[in-house]
Amino acid sequence: MHIKRFHRLGCAAAVLAAAASLAVAQTQTNIHRDAATRNVGNDPFMLQYARAFYCNLADDNNQIVIASRGWNNTTGTGANAQYRIPMTQIFDDVWFVGNHYVGQYLIKTPDGLVQVDAANNANEVATFNYPAMQALGLSAAFPLKAVLLTHGHGDHDGGANWLKTNVGTEIFLGSADAAGKAYAPTAIDSTDLSMRQMSVGGKNFWILPTPGHTNGSTSSVVEVQDHGKTVRVLTNGGQSMTNSIPAVANYLDSIERTYAMVKALKVEGVMTPHIYWDGEGQKMREILASGRTNPSQHVYGHESVVRQMVIARECSAAWLTRLDATLALPVWRYNTVEFVGGAPTPTKVTAKVKNGWGPLVKQKVKFSVEETGASCTATTDAYGVASCDVRPLRPHKDRITARFEGAETADFVDLPAEATALVCSNGNCKPQ
Ligand SMILES: [Zn+2]
Repeated sequence: MHIKRFHRLGCAAAVLAAAASLAVAQTQTNIHRDAATRNVGNDPFMLQYARAFYCNLADDNNQIVIASRGWNNTTGTGANAQYRIPMTQIFDDVWFVGNHYVGQYLIKTPDGLVQVDAANNANEVATFNYPAMQALGLSAAFPLKAVLLTHGHGDHDGGANWLKTNVGTEIFLGSADAAGKAYAPTAIDSTDLSMRQMSVGGKNFWILPTPGHTNGSTSSVVEVQDHGKTVRVLTNGGQSMTNSIPAVANYLDSIERTYAMVKALKVEGVMTPHIYWDGEGQKMREILASGRTNPSQHVYGHESVVRQMVIARECSAAWLTRLDATLALPVWRYNTVEFVGGAPTPTKVTAKVKNGWGPLVKQKVKFSVEETGASCTATTDAYGVASCDVRPLRPHKDRITARFEGAETADFVDLPAEATALVCSNGNCKPQ
């Protein structure tokens, strides 16, 4: 149809080539958009938030982001009060301050405060963040020790200069965003893409430069306390993509490295500045309506944080392959391992590996017993099921881990997965 219509222009070869490359681009984009959805699994929350917002460009659905910008009210007065969120405690030592579009996280340390991001402008930090700091005990002896900026856009650093001048603090920002900033930031080297630990106002952060949204975007992981338990949370620096192919390629690479970071550090929670993006706005509303749960609503669970990054990776691949029709990228598949019947028994050690495409066939699963060191390896059948003979096994004593190491083909990167369960008795097995 298209070829016939354009043929009249008298440029058939070029039209055919363009049509062919468009077909490839749409196929690649659709494959990755579809992969993002399949990687969601059965999680409606992730479908509603992370999947929708990370894929908004590839889905031609950027209006959901544009609409969210309308909530970025910095005054909170009169009719605009609805856009503000009251200062909300989300962990033992973390409070959210902000509006429904963008916010900041105030972390209480033994000897002062550290804030992630710095709001839109001086008036906003003076009206909301400064009183919040005072409520948390701000004084000469308990100062604002540092502000860690996710990147240099105005909705994240607009109040930085006011805080530096009026409260006094050190401001950290990725070096690639630091040029011309009046608040003279302490630069985080944006060209060193390795993850490293850094003291930010005396608080340890794992820092990962993640260029893409801006060149100087920085992601981080920090340990917080949740009902007395230490939890690691991710702040993903810089959320949306642009139309620049090199920038989106960087963004994709940054998401892949962020995935590796959350896996390595066993991250369980998120603190994202744009709370509408991954559903934190809804978590905030739940806390305000009925209080903080134990664990906190902001503890998503390690596998959910990992899955969110895999979805983000596929959404980024969808957008990049749409901008650059010459690219073909393998699809990342999030896998799960589960023990058949819920848990192993002394005579049955069986696990299933699957993903959003179905069972994973002809892949090795290694079963290892934590207490005895015994292990065995089996290959999954047509149903994704692998069975092993590892004995002896003591009910209610031994723990078995079933691990799929991951695999790669030209089309797929099958991500590693594992499950651990306590051996239960024959005929008396409840899912662990
Ligand atoms: Zn930005």
